[in-house]
Amino acid sequence: MTASPKKRVYFDHSATTRVLPEVHEAMTPFFLERFGNPSSIHSFGREAKAALEEARKKVADLINADPTEIVLTSGGTESDNLAIKGTAMYKGKMKGHIITTTIEHHAVLEPCEYLKRFGFEITHIPVSSEGLVDFAEIERAIRNDTVLITVMTANNEIGTIQPVKDIGKLAKAKGIPFHTDAVQAIGKLPIDVKSDNIDMLSLSAHKFHGPKGVGALYVKKGTKIEPILLGGGQERGLRSSTVNVAGAVGLGKAAEIAKRDMEPTCQKMKRLRDKMVEAVPELVPHSYVNGHKTTRLVNNAHFRFDFIEGEGLILQLDFKGIAASTGSACSTGSLEPSHVLLALGLTHEQAHGSLRVTLGRENTEEEVDYLLEVLPGVVSKLREISPFSAERPMGPGTGGSCVQ
Ligand code: PLP
Repeated sequence: MTASPKKRVYFDHSATTRVLPEVHEAMTPFFLERFGNPSSIHSFGREAKAALEEARKKVADLINADPTEIVLTSGGTESDNLAIKGTAMYKGKMKGHIITTTIEHHAVLEPCEYLKRFGFEITHIPVSSEGLVDFAEIERAIRNDTVLITVMTANNEIGTIQPVKDIGKLAKAKGIPFHTDAVQAIGKLPIDVKSDNIDMLSLSAHKFHGPKGVGALYVKKGTKIEPILLGGGQERGLRSSTVNVAGAVGLGKAAEIAKRDMEPTCQKMKRLRDKMVEAVPELVPHSYVNGHKTTRLVNNAHFRFDFIEGEGLILQLDFKGIAASTGSACSTGSLEPSHVLLALGLTHEQAHGSLRVTLGRENTEEEVDYLLEVLPGVVSKLREISPFSAERPMGPGTGGSCVQ
């Protein structure tokens, strides 16, 4: 097969995913003839309300929750904010302690930073060079005034899966609410909020083939949180504003499909991912795999190439029709190295030379072969124009897991 620039291959499924035709089809009537407001008591309203409740049930089924425990939101960021600020500030509380990690998404880190202004203290638990949070450190960090533990289910950059079940058990034993950002894990890991002792869980439709701008926060019955959006009292008072009905229907359909297809989809993605992870270090000299070798999302491959800039790599791959990313999509546009990669112990230069390839259910072996065909040439071309080389290295520091 020859490299053709007309070919377009999407390997950036952790940034966002395509809305599936089934999802699109389910949503369409709610923009057109079934446009009612679910709070209205006439037939248009009742129709919208019924669709909303069906969608809520599908989301609940995916994570083994009760539909009454699902709060519909505008996405992962809002769900994280509601869980963190809503718990911290319950009944006007203005101080306390929160435990999180150094590799959370900014949608978790920023609300935690914000709460510091009001007197909250935050402990960021470090991770190993493979991105695993130290469970014993979490246990040691717990204080009498700890109001929340928030640890992501799986990381958006390197895909490392955290010991959520153990953390849930610990939090329950200590009587501390436990929130997990499962935005990247949904559809790629079976999640059971009951057996994992999760009190709050964030998810976002566009990461699993639903529409953008809609998500949910699971809030276990009895969990005490304060709303952050005040108004008409929708979503049992926890999230005022007229719900995005078409979006919620799309979220529900995507959740149903994620549950239905999880096993075969994950098997396929894992096989393709493993092929890449084995091949790249053999095909490209001075290349490494970032993150954990096994405890990682099935669709995530994260590489590091010495002596090049990830931004250049992304652009060169884009010329060949391949879409991937360096750092997280949210920080693209800034030249700040990823906080996740720095937390693994990588130097700034090493963090900059990284490539995230995230697979989706529709990627094929042919597409993976195309990447493997194109990548070595692109990397060596970039190295030819790089001021750095094996003879002129970029500086000290290692980290990540060398698989070469
Ligand atoms: N949390 C994680 C782990 C994410 O990867 C993202 C998006 O990249 C978010 C939260 C934010 O989700 P949303 O784009 O739905 O606001």
